[in-house]
Amino acid sequence: MPSPDKTTPLHAMSIDVEDYFHVAALSGVVSPDQWDSLPSRVEQNTERLLALFEKHQVKATFFVLGWVAERFPGVIRKLSDYGHEIASHGYSHQLIYTQSQAVFREETIRSKALLEDITGKTVEGYRAASYSITRESLWALDILIEAGFTWDSSIFPIRHDNYGIPNSPSAPYTIETANGATIREFPLTTAHMLGLSIPAAGGGYFRQFPYPLFRYLFRNASGFGSRPQVFYLHPWEIDPEQPRYNDASWFSRFRHYTNLDKCYSRLDRLLGDFRFGTVSESYNAYEPDKTLLRSDQLIRLA
Ligand SMILES: [Zn+2]
Repeated sequence: MPSPDKTTPLHAMSIDVEDYFHVAALSGVVSPDQWDSLPSRVEQNTERLLALFEKHQVKATFFVLGWVAERFPGVIRKLSDYGHEIASHGYSHQLIYTQSQAVFREETIRSKALLEDITGKTVEGYRAASYSITRESLWALDILIEAGFTWDSSIFPIRHDNYGIPNSPSAPYTIETANGATIREFPLTTAHMLGLSIPAAGGGYFRQFPYPLFRYLFRNASGFGSRPQVFYLHPWEIDPEQPRYNDASWFSRFRHYTNLDKCYSRLDRLLGDFRFGTVSESYNAYEPDKTLLRSDQLIRLA
């Protein structure tokens, strides 16, 4: 655990552990029934991230896709044994608001049990595929609580075609669901500038923006040091050697392939520029965690 420093918040470092072919931007050119026949890169890329975190002595949260955990339990056990936090990224990487509640419940329970069998530890945190907990799928929070999750990191406080709850809080908060149960939420990082909300959580934005701009936006989002933020990346984002889908749309290729070759060294810089820990460590270190929002209030924001 890093030493306490009131001026520099302990931000949350997170990795969504999935392969290059699981990505929603490529779903038009590769379907789930092909996944098993494709050359997997997730294990070796996760090992490289593990080595970088070791170099910086940072513990991260790894949101593991059930599909990956089932096929590569060894690397997940290794992450856990090294002291990283294991959380769930669901099972099949489908958007929650396109799933029935019954299918979501079954996948959620199955993927949590899978990770707990591998690590021998309780899994408490969840992140939805493509941040797909929106106003249309807030019912998912009740299922997460029912399954034993105590925190979630799936809600992006922005307006976007595929995800986001605009105007929802940008600092960690607690949600009271329609059933009266509560779950803690660590929202995805959003900077506020010139009346705009700009995603600054990592991923494609981290690769596409010049590094100094991203660093500025991340600082801006944290109120220049007053509250912790969450950063995320995928193992495939540090892998310029991955197989390419040249038949994907121009926009999908731009989103998926831009600056893959620069990403690892940028992450190295980021780890030197900010303090990071697991999502749970970051959440627990944040004292003013007093905001309680009911899910019907979240629905009325916007
Ligand atoms: Zn994902």
